[in-house]
Formats: sequence, C-alpha cells, structure tokens
Amino acid sequence: MIYLDAAATAPVRREVLEAMWPLFTSDYGNPSSHHTVGESAARALDYARRLVATELNCRPADVVFTSGGTEADNLAIKGIALATPRGRHIVASAIEHPAVLETLDYLKRLHGFRITLLPVTSAGLVEPEILRNALAPDTTLCTIMYANNEVGTVQPLPELARICREYSVPFHTDAVQAAGWLPLDTAELGVDAMSISGHKLGAPKGSGVLFARSRIPLEPLIHGGGQERGKRSGTENVAGAVAVATAICLAQQERESNCAASVARRNHLINTVLTGIEGAILTGDAQKRLPNLASFCFPGASGEAILLELERAGVISSSGSACAAGDSEPSTVLLALGIDSDIAQTALRLSWTPATTDAEIALAARSVVASVRAVQALK
Ligand code: PLP
Repeated sequence: MIYLDAAATAPVRREVLEAMWPLFTSDYGNPSSHHTVGESAARALDYARRLVATELNCRPADVVFTSGGTEADNLAIKGIALATPRGRHIVASAIEHPAVLETLDYLKRLHGFRITLLPVTSAGLVEPEILRNALAPDTTLCTIMYANNEVGTVQPLPELARICREYSVPFHTDAVQAAGWLPLDTAELGVDAMSISGHKLGAPKGSGVLFARSRIPLEPLIHGGGQERGKRSGTENVAGAVAVATAICLAQQERESNCAASVARRNHLINTVLTGIEGAILTGDAQKRLPNLASFCFPGASGEAILLELERAGVISSSGSACAAGDSEPSTVLLALGIDSDIAQTALRLSWTPATTDAEIALAARSVVASVRAVQALK
C-alpha cells in the first residue's frame, strides 16, 4: 500500500513516541502539582514550550499548546476578535479551511462581525492589493492560510502580513499544511498568530500549537484553572505538548533536505500525470506550491471512481479536504479558483510525508495514469 493522503494525517514518528513515553510512565504528574512528580511534568512542559519557541523564533510566553489545528484557529480568531475589537470586521481568504470559515461564520451570526472573504486568482493566490483595499478602520483581524490543504498553493505571507502591519491589523495564519515544509520563523514572516497541528507532522492527533504574540490580547475559549497563562485552561496534555514540540523540531531540522527531495518527486508525479492523461488539469499554482502535494482534475471522469480504482491498485489518496469526505458538494476551494462545479467533482489530491520514496511516487504516478484511463474508458 502506498499512502498518499498525508495532508489528511500522517503516522506518528518513532522519535516522537519515544519522547512521549516517559510522560506516561515516570513523569506522569500534573504540572500544577507542587511535588516532585508534578515538577518533573512541569519541566517537560517547559522544555516543550522552549523547543517550539526556538523553532518559531518567538518567546516561550507566546506558545499555547492546543488540541490541534482546529482549536488553534478557533482560539486565534475568536480570541483576538473578542478581546480587543477595533471594530467588528475580519478579513480572510475565500479558500480557508472550515476551521477558519466556520469560526468566522460563528462570529458573524452571534457577535455581529462583518466578514470579507478575499477572492483568489485561478492559481489560488491572494493578491496583495486586494487585501490592502479590503482593510478598513474597523478591521480587527486578518487571517490568511500559509498553504492551502486542497491545492497546495503557498501565499506570499510576508508581503500580506506587512500590509496588515501598515494598518495595525493583527495577522493570523493557519500554517497547518505549511509546517514541516516552509519557514516558520514568526519574526521573518511578520505574523502575530500562527496555528500548527501535530498530526500532520508525525505527532499524535489531538496535539497542536497556537503561536500568539503575548502583547496582543487574547480572550480564552476554555475557562478554568488558568493553565497556559490563562489562555487555555485544563490540565495540560504534557505528552502531546512534548510530541508536537519534538515533531516540529525534527521537521525543521530536516526541512531543507526533505524539500529538495520532495520537489523532485512532486514534479515527476505532475509531469507523468499531465503528459499521460489527456485533458488532465493541475490545480493550484504550478510553482508556488507545497513540495509534498499534487492536485488535479480530470474533466469527464468520476472523481469517486478514480479514488476507488486507485485504492484497488494500492494507492491511498483523496479528493481534497478530509473534512469534506463523503460530501457530494463540489469543493468551495476549487470553485473559488474558478473551476466549474462538474470539473471540481473530479478532483484528486496526492500528498505524502518525507518518508515516501522516489520509487513509491513513481509507482503511484503510473497507477494514477492507468486508473484515470480505466475510468475514462468506462464512459
Ligand atoms: N487547517 C488546515 C489547513 C488543515 O488542513 C487542517 C486539517 O486538515 C486543519 C486546519 C485542522 O487541523 P486539526 O485536524 O489538527 O484540527
């Protein structure tokens, strides 16, 4: 079996499991307890926070451990919007993950916020001037994802963040798909808040990080004992924090070599599919895209039939967002890129981890060509 659905989730790395083990066995204390068992858990949590802060080039106080990307997005957006509204206007891109879009919808319905969703180009890029024109005196937050989970397009984040800074608008980015593949230096990116999920990086599901500059007021979503400097109450998931910290650290250390190898794999896969299948369309930007993600549409072929045919051939893939699995509606991301709804329903997304080999990608590329041709022949 060749697993090419890493954008949905990835296996846990051995080094991460090994780092977690002592937190379940010897250092299992509650970090708030004032005895040696609690203190060793508190030290582990502190170590995890410092590790993340080093990788993100921020202060340890800016790191909040969460249950994953969805919670980090919710905390950043609701937390900033409700703490210090300059007004009730939020700007986002039209191709955000549901963790962002649904949060914005909540703020609109229950708190009267006005939401501006920026259109994107046919490659999925937000144009800086369109962002600039959307900012208003009452804009309280801008949230634009770093890399898209369905088509892999990477936004010009430093430029977008710079525009928001000019207008003193806090800038949050969902970096769930970018982490491990793109630079995460928060100072260089110029972001005020950034969400990361552990399970896309080799840590378990239920682990994540929100970087949120501590000078920006943040209203907590979860109230209680005041853990995480009052930003996220509840006894800390120390093993999860150590896991996500270890996974971020390893991914950052290996990033350059992983990227070089992965870009070659991606380009081979894209070339094989585009030359082997008549009418195949690459979705997303051809160059400004994640190294580990290739996404296509095959006009006239059934997307579901392609996925089944590929699985029969031993290749696990998806049509796009895992959150939309089983959804018969066309992807809102592909529609926002201007793709017709019948073509959007033929989408295929292939995404992999750094451990995926050249041989696996080459075999998968041949399987995609054979599977799509088989489905096309059925018509
Ligand atoms: N944001 C993006 C871009 C994602 O791809 C995902 C997961 O697919 C999430 C947020 C949600 O992350 P989590 O599954 O950790 O809640």
